[in-house]
Amino acid sequence: MTFRFVNVAGRSAVLDADDNWFDLERITGGTVSADPMLALADGAALQAASVKLSTATPDGTLATARLGAPVPRPRNCFAVGLNYSNHAAESGMALPEQPLVFTKFPSCVVGPDEEVSLSSATADWEVELVVVIGTPGRHIPSNRAWDHIVGITIGQDLSDRALQFAAKPPHFDLGKSRDGYGPLGPVMVSTDSVANPDDLALTCDINGRRVQDDRTSNLIFTVPVLVAYLSGIMTLVAGDIIFTGTPAGVGMSTGTFLRPGDVIVSTIEGIGTLTTHCVA
Ligand code: ZN
Repeated sequence: MTFRFVNVAGRSAVLDADDNWFDLERITGGTVSADPMLALADGAALQAASVKLSTATPDGTLATARLGAPVPRPRNCFAVGLNYSNHAAESGMALPEQPLVFTKFPSCVVGPDEEVSLSSATADWEVELVVVIGTPGRHIPSNRAWDHIVGITIGQDLSDRALQFAAKPPHFDLGKSRDGYGPLGPVMVSTDSVANPDDLALTCDINGRRVQDDRTSNLIFTVPVLVAYLSGIMTLVAGDIIFTGTPAGVGMSTGTFLRPGDVIVSTIEGIGTLTTHCVA
């Protein structure tokens, strides 16, 4: 059974097929927490609640809902650099032999349709599939990795390139963690919402111009490999998220960066569209 999970004004909710939203605490009589960080720890409960929506009264429609990030306060926010070969090539970097993992500090996470202050003249876009851990685990084998993932969503790994490369070796973490540099959402869908979670089309458009267009099947280190790798180092818990990497077409490759007024539209097949507005 599939579900689509959203954060409406800070509260857990699920969507029906017609994009009506239902407050989870209300429709489950308090069984599911209103806090998205607690609710997403139990995918089975989200599925059970979604089965009964045809007999429930919706709270509103998605179009008018004030959405936050579906994972508003991740404990850990991992990100993976150079995880598509065409992006490594455009960056002039050799392919990593191990996953190149850095932190987006969780304070950078914001929801869909947010205005993000660019803070510098070298802000860049990176559309990415983001996976959300639901079931905690340590030493998770790759063939069980998807069982530990409660859902998938869309992320923008916004990057201040000047800041990212201001130190040697580069500090990816700071350059990708300015306030608002982690747009996430609008929905988190269950992994069975898509035919193959290892092969999803993803695109990024800037002001209507297509700049990134690839498939997650081209990831160098796949989602199962990343989960196995990270869980071999530390315990993963519900609400940890992984930005899995971005394909070719970032602004840095052509010296084109985001400007105030730009609109970033990030789309992943089977999940939806994340819109972000750039302001000065
Ligand atoms: Zn990235």
